[in-house]
Amino acid sequence: NCDAPMDICMTFGNTADSLIRSNYARRIDAKECLELLEVAYSNNLVQVGENVQNEVAFICNCCGCCCEALLAAKRFGTTQTIATTAYIPVVLPSSCVSCGKCVAVCPVDALELKNDELELIEEMCLGCGVCVRNCAFDALHLEKRDARVITPVNTAHRVVLMAIDKGMLPNLIFDNNALASHRMMASILTAILNLPPAKQILANEQIRSKYLANMMAKRKK
Ligand code: SF4
Ligand code: SF4
Ligand code: SF4
Repeated sequence: NCDAPMDICMTFGNTADSLIRSNYARRIDAKECLELLEVAYSNNLVQVGENVQNEVAFICNCCGCCCEALLAAKRFGTTQTIATTAYIPVVLPSSCVSCGKCVAVCPVDALELKNDELELIEEMCLGCGVCVRNCAFDALHLEKRDARVITPVNTAHRVVLMAIDKGMLPNLIFDNNALASHRMMASILTAILNLPPAKQILANEQIRSKYLANMMAKRKK
């Protein structure tokens, strides 16, 4: 739907190897990766790295009209706390001339002009900063969000946190064939046992497992 480059999302490590072997991706070196990130930035694409601290598996460069993830966010109004950054744009009304450029470039329609006043729909905002760098009047800047966003340690931790936030931990554990392997199940359980106490309580409420409750209690001792 747009002029943004398509051949621009990146995966790393085992995921990349598997996609290259299946002819879904091509191998590139670090130099080309950096060049592509620059191209993505200059095309106002939202740069979405996997939200984990270690072993990032992908960096997507998404537009709001073609990327399925951003389209879903717009269409269904999903508030995905895990995927946001720790920042939020703030408008300086005295500098804003209501030109609408930031509204046009926001990939998830999180900005609106109402009676020439700029309004942010906070629950939709990704904190990507695309609006800020497109304001020619320095009327927008990013500030830290009040609520702390937990950055998961790894992919298993991220999947568990997302499942808890959506109330779907039981589905993740009991209905998912991918967890048939002991290795995957072990990594999911380890992620649950390493959660902060408030998230552990939520996890326990969702699964209602005596086994998990015992494991958590032992871990605390
Ligand atoms: S659809 Fe979006 S998230 Fe998926 S690969 Fe494309 S840009 Fe990335
Ligand atoms: S781009 Fe800047 S000046 Fe234009 S509406 Fe947005 S904040 Fe206001
Ligand atoms: S930071 Fe700006 S461009 Fe990005 S989602 Fe929020 S309002 Fe939209």
